[in-house]
Amino acid sequence: MTHVVIIGASTGGLPAAYEIKELLSKGDEVTVISNTEIFHFVPSNPWVAVGWRERKDISFEIAPRLKKKKINFIAKAAETILPDENKVILVDGTVVDYDYLVIATGPKLAFEEIEGLGPEGHTHSICSLDHAEVAYDDWRRFVENPGPIVVGAAPFASCFGPAYEFAFILDTELRRRKIRDQVPITFVTSEPYIGHLGLGGVGDSKGMLESEMRNHDIKWVTNAKITKCEEGKVFVDEINDAGEVAKQHEIEHKYAMILPAFKGVDAIMKVGDDLVNPRGFVKVDEFQRNPKWNNIYAVGVCIAIPPVEVTPVPTGAPKTGYMIESMVDAVKHNILNDIKSEAPDHRPTWNAICLADMGDTGIAFVAMPQIPPRNTAWMRKGRWVHLAKVAFEKYFIRKMKTGNSEPVYEKYILKAMGITKLK
Ligand SMILES: Cc1cc2nc3c(=O)[nH]c(=O)nc-3n(C[C@H](O)[C@H](O)[C@H](O)COP(=O)(O)OP(=O)(O)OC[C@H]3O[C@@H](n4cnc5c(N)ncnc54)[C@H](O)[C@@H]3O)c2cc1C
Repeated sequence: MTHVVIIGASTGGLPAAYEIKELLSKGDEVTVISNTEIFHFVPSNPWVAVGWRERKDISFEIAPRLKKKKINFIAKAAETILPDENKVILVDGTVVDYDYLVIATGPKLAFEEIEGLGPEGHTHSICSLDHAEVAYDDWRRFVENPGPIVVGAAPFASCFGPAYEFAFILDTELRRRKIRDQVPITFVTSEPYIGHLGLGGVGDSKGMLESEMRNHDIKWVTNAKITKCEEGKVFVDEINDAGEVAKQHEIEHKYAMILPAFKGVDAIMKVGDDLVNPRGFVKVDEFQRNPKWNNIYAVGVCIAIPPVEVTPVPTGAPKTGYMIESMVDAVKHNILNDIKSEAPDHRPTWNAICLADMGDTGIAFVAMPQIPPRNTAWMRKGRWVHLAKVAFEKYFIRKMKTGNSEPVYEKYILKAMGITKLK
């Protein structure tokens, strides 16, 4: 009997559980360990923060769904891994043995790296559903008494799309409420230029996103190193190409949402540098396996990918849905190969696709490969992107509820964009 254990049950972990279970033989077992009992669709969090979605619209209980598929579920946090002993230790001391381990723990949101950052400080976050709900509570107060807004991404953030999305979503919502004229918006980002996206830009993303920001009256500060957040104030050092402070800003606001730096979660980080890089992301080879412990795989935001280029303020490469889908696909096939004593032969694509919602319209990006120069650098704007994102949300949540394992990006999204050459 083979036992595959998966830590994390979100965009990476839950599809991995369904797809691996489907591929294994009868009698083999899959166990999911999760520190939360619910799945929620992370890309909808910006909509929760303005009241366009509620918790019930975008989340569901994991346990009954896994039970239907005969997948074991442990709703407890993993405390650490003992990789030489093939064991996961849970917070209550329970020991879970595995033959293969798939780590899908996403990021640790490192608010602590900047004084005053985060929901326990003076800025909001949309990275988790809990955070988005807190942001919405404050949003309701804000619209009664509006003022300046700051939206942005901290140094070492590795997901910039949601920050842009949120700025444009706020703009849309404020226009609908007819109070946009009372709200100066400043976008503050560690990216070296607007539209860099942690990807070195995608096609003309710089020109297109700058133009959109101008058309929506959103000012910006790039190469921004946020140094401190106080009640109603964000402090920023603007860094030049030589790495020096070129200008200092104190930006006042009545509402702020800043994406924090991403790190690996503590449970994984504490295993040490054979498993993780200095920021706690899991080291993987071309087959998604850890180079030292080949029976440990990792998928999603928790894996170590070097930045696409050095930037004056550190930025990370994003790990988005299509990449995660291709990582899961590689992992399931490589585990099966290993069970059959065959060499691994499935590599993920790591191509980037992003549907960035702008409230009532949107911009779609496709970057293949992730690092420029690229075979495909595709970008389009239109209301269809917003509609596609809404349709995708519904489709993906249903897919996660039912355990349907079809590859959504390759089957639908890329085809809908007219992109058929994938690699
Ligand atoms: C706000 C936001 C919007 C995004 N929008 C898009 C988008 O539109 N399109 C796109 O392609 N990508 C998007 N992304 C990027 C990416 O697709 C998502 O972050 C995605 O959810 C990553 O999936 P994951 O499974 O790797 O990590 P996560 O979704 O973070 O899941 C990790 C899971 O592991 C659990 N966990 C952590 N530690 C432990 C532990 N010790 N024990 C047990 N469980 C643990 C966590 O609670 C969580 O449930 C977005 C990201 C953010 C933050």
